[in-house]
Amino acid sequence: MTPALEVRSLSHAYGARDAVHDLDFTLPEGEILGLIGPNGAGKTTTLKLLGGVLAPRTGSARALGQPCDRLPPATLAAMGFVSERAQLPEQMTVGALIAFCRSLRPDWEPERARQLRERFELALDSRVRSLSRGQCAKLAFLLAVAYRPRLLLLDEPFGGLDPLARSEILDELLSLVGETGCAVLVATHDLADVERIADRVALLHAGRLVFCELVDAVLARHHRVRLTFDSDGGCDERLLARGIEGHRDGRVLEYIETSGRDASSTKVAPTGTRVEIEPLSLEEIFVAWARHLNQGARR
Ligand code: ATP
Repeated sequence: MTPALEVRSLSHAYGARDAVHDLDFTLPEGEILGLIGPNGAGKTTTLKLLGGVLAPRTGSARALGQPCDRLPPATLAAMGFVSERAQLPEQMTVGALIAFCRSLRPDWEPERARQLRERFELALDSRVRSLSRGQCAKLAFLLAVAYRPRLLLLDEPFGGLDPLARSEILDELLSLVGETGCAVLVATHDLADVERIADRVALLHAGRLVFCELVDAVLARHHRVRLTFDSDGGCDERLLARGIEGHRDGRVLEYIETSGRDASSTKVAPTGTRVEIEPLSLEEIFVAWARHLNQGARR
């Protein structure tokens, strides 16, 4: 089956400055991929390359089987885009904007649009300029999903949403994917959302992909390890090299193991060492990698 997204050795630079470098990943149909990374990591640039707004410097990207820098109208029509920075026409009313989008899309589902508008409490006669940031985010989401796209590209789509609205939109996304097999790439700083809805997660740092894996696999291979040795003298600091973000405090070593329990430190710690292993959230894993890679870049 053709994947929803297929990215091979994709790079882009603004002038002489590399923004994304040598990206490789695949998004199968019916899956949600969370694209995460610190500010300036290249998430928006990646989404612009996938949406055909930017052309790659080298490499290639295909969306629904078509080259992203030359998307045919039928493929574009099957894709939905939501960007926090996207400007909706301020003068229009909600009703006029919905009618306009409906006129452009033969596969628009009026009943679905109505249900979403009511759920999001968007009044038809409100002008877009009078909407709050969160209400604009809801309207942008409605316009992107009311025709059941096959591929959704979302760039920080949940900015300004209160927790209830956020939860409603996430539920809506999950049911869209479940019902239609739509694929979703969502760039976000909200790691708890990624942990809740995404099948896969891709971590970008300084334009490079650190990993792109199933969320469960990422959670399974990262742990915080604390080794308490019998004595200061017995504390073997070389074990810090087994992970990232390591430090020593007296006869205690602490670090984050990145390669799962099979390679676990429990197997190499000297007898008598107390070994504590704690699972980590995606947010803790993100912070550990970002610190580790920032330190590496400064060296
Ligand atoms: P954020 O989380 O802050 O939104 P991001 O991960 O989306 O960041 P990008 O916006 O893709 O990052 O930016 C990646 C790099 O490219 C940054 O160094 C940024 O300064 C640079 N960049 C982005 N847009 C342009 C542009 N139009 N011209 C020049 N440089 C740019």
